[in-house]
Amino acid sequence: MPSPSLLHPGFDVQALSFDKALIEQLAGNGPRYTSYPTADRFHAGFDVTAYRTLAWQRFSAGPRRPLSLYVHIPFCNTICYYCGCNKIITKDKAKAEVYLDYLEREMAMQAELIGSGARVEQLHFGGGTPTFLSDAQLERLVGALRQHFDFAPDEQGEYSIEIDPRKVNAETVALLACLGFNRMSIGVQDFDPAVQAAVNRIQSEAETLSVMKAARAHGFRSISIDLIYGLPRQTTAGFSATLDKVIAARPDRLSIYSYAHLPHLFKPQRRIAEAELPTLDEKLDLLSLAIDKLTGAGYVYIGMDHFALPDDELAQAQRAGTLHRNFQGYSTRDDIDLLALGVSGIGKLGDSYSQNVKSTEEYYALLDAGQLPLFRGLQLSRDDEIRRALIQQLMCQFALDLNAFATQWRIDFANYFAKELASLQPMVRLGLLTLDAQRLQVLPRGRLLVRNIAMLFDRYLQQGQPLQRYSKVI
Ligand code: SF4
Repeated sequence: MPSPSLLHPGFDVQALSFDKALIEQLAGNGPRYTSYPTADRFHAGFDVTAYRTLAWQRFSAGPRRPLSLYVHIPFCNTICYYCGCNKIITKDKAKAEVYLDYLEREMAMQAELIGSGARVEQLHFGGGTPTFLSDAQLERLVGALRQHFDFAPDEQGEYSIEIDPRKVNAETVALLACLGFNRMSIGVQDFDPAVQAAVNRIQSEAETLSVMKAARAHGFRSISIDLIYGLPRQTTAGFSATLDKVIAARPDRLSIYSYAHLPHLFKPQRRIAEAELPTLDEKLDLLSLAIDKLTGAGYVYIGMDHFALPDDELAQAQRAGTLHRNFQGYSTRDDIDLLALGVSGIGKLGDSYSQNVKSTEEYYALLDAGQLPLFRGLQLSRDDEIRRALIQQLMCQFALDLNAFATQWRIDFANYFAKELASLQPMVRLGLLTLDAQRLQVLPRGRLLVRNIAMLFDRYLQQGQPLQRYSKVI
């Protein structure tokens, strides 16, 4: 349903303004809200039995539901020092063969659980590096998925894969298109050789461009490029050159992530020389540069690190008030159940989340025992649902019609969120947002800080959840 916020005259949901002083004042740590409650709130009390019951209720009767599948491939050939993902560094493709054996067991169990009650409309391969798999292994995996699940026709479905261009050639891209993939995101981070050496990710511009060229030739509908600012040895001159090259290649979408240096949580980051990291001031100059260049080149700000061309479906959905947010970031689909396959995958069934075990050892042991490899999850309370809807709307629409929201959720907004409305006042005074009895609007200068605003509505943070585990909001 379109958001009522868009009916407000003069509200440009994609306008963005960069206010360095304001960001410096407010930039702290915070969740990215790909889910609410965040995954650190999941608990072991939500177990396989709870999951099975929900799946049965959801899929056993009624019309066939749309389904999203996430497949986690944890392997990578080499380690990138900035990495915070769940991955296994190896060159041994035989390890992937064993992993695929177990993935097939998991998909068979999940497929049996949902029966014929669902049709896959979205598929995402993430990692790690999905293209660590050989062409034969990719074929095997997609073949098994298609054997176990009913897929919407390729032209209707959103089938995406994360690509490491260092290991992909035009033949693999052609195969991926043949297998039904029609979207890809390509990790670049920075083309500057000094930065690439500092983070141990040597990737030529030619490798990236040739994958993009092949993707276009094979009809991929959306190409997204990932960049990171705040990496060691990054300079405005070097990053400016990277941005120019990326913009010239004209990807449909761009993600510009802030490097989160959390060496206490992510061991590879201990190999990054802290003295080589840009200061906050320098980091913000990199972000400001990226915003200037991207908006100057016609990209619009979707929110939370994401930019897109104005005719991209995410940009269109945002203007139409139908943009959503999930574990893969922004999406045009709402309320779609998500089955996650593979280690560490997070799924969503109705008003619940569930997560698989994180190591292959545990994953293999549970599947050997004939069990779904879940280790934790969460059944949302009604309060969680209300706050999830609110945070999602702020993240996607930068505005909230308080009356419409109150009617939709049958609450007295002013009473229910009395504490939060009061705590928004300092942000109103700082010019991040406007607030009256009808409407909350995040102003262009507050949009890069929308996580700070969302955090005020996070009940778990209000209860004192420590923030060190989260990345910097900028
Ligand atoms: S950043 Fe990506 S490619 Fe690099 S080690 Fe992490 S998961 Fe692997």
